[in-house]
Amino acid sequence: MNELIDSVDFGELERFFVDNIGLYRTANTIQLLLLRQTHDYTIFRTEETRELNVVTLPSSSTDPSPMIRVAMLASKQKAVESRHFLTLVRTAAGEENLDEKQRECSLKDALCQRCPRCVLFGAVSTERGRGQERWNIKHRVEYSTAYSLEPYDEISELITFNAVDSVSQSTGQALGYTENVSPLANFPTVITLNSVTKEEFIAFLKCVLSCKSYGAETRVKGDVVNHLLGVVGGYEEIITPLEFCLEATNEGFLENPVDRTLEIMRKFSDYAMFQDNVVIMRGDEITEKVKEIPLDSSFALSMYKEAEKFADGLAEYGKRAQR
Ligand SMILES: [Zn+2]
Repeated sequence: MNELIDSVDFGELERFFVDNIGLYRTANTIQLLLLRQTHDYTIFRTEETRELNVVTLPSSSTDPSPMIRVAMLASKQKAVESRHFLTLVRTAAGEENLDEKQRECSLKDALCQRCPRCVLFGAVSTERGRGQERWNIKHRVEYSTAYSLEPYDEISELITFNAVDSVSQSTGQALGYTENVSPLANFPTVITLNSVTKEEFIAFLKCVLSCKSYGAETRVKGDVVNHLLGVVGGYEEIITPLEFCLEATNEGFLENPVDRTLEIMRKFSDYAMFQDNVVIMRGDEITEKVKEIPLDSSFALSMYKEAEKFADGLAEYGKRAQR
């Protein structure tokens, strides 16, 4: 680990980092409580259906009356962020410093299984046969569906698109419509990291907090800004995204989201099964620390080295298991 990373102190949270990526998971769990906020019209679905995913949930943790909310599916969040993560670490490492497989690692059909993205987000082998058993790498980052704070009817907008006649330059009749989430809609969510190194924690946060393009048609829309509100470490998941969302819908959350999140994390840590193993941190303080650490080539290459070590260990394990 480089000295700069060593010198940054995340306090009590440090004990939830692992020194090396191991073949077995540990109980060390770190949850990131985030607020995803749309800054432009955004289309969350990439399927042919033109509708948003909606779900009926309670109005808040204190009000059981039904409320229809927009859902941002976990798979869509993960797809965008794992791509961004790969781009960041590969750029920082410098392609010339990587082997061919690592250089060409891409989603979803050519995962290299030996780069920082593959070992953190997981990789399913697509190679078959050749008399050699292949293995899969289990993910250590878990996403969940994020639900809007605002009701569906307040943040959804139908936008029609027209065809332009190339001869007359006139716009003909409307061709169709897309259902968009309007700007400044809020989606609180939780991402759970299991058995991550300090380097992975920093790199992952730098990725999520710099990722801005979500959904379909990102050429013209889809800006989303992510804020880190809180971090909680434990031997278990302390809070689910749904619990966080229902708490966040209570009065006054958006006026002071970091302080409110701190209160919510305190409340839920009281329910934890391992009371001696809960650490709560403010999101703004963690963000400040993470911002100061440059993702330079020595940082990224050290992550690649750690990923290779893990991949080699896994291959060795696979060979032994076959004997
Ligand atoms: Zn890879």
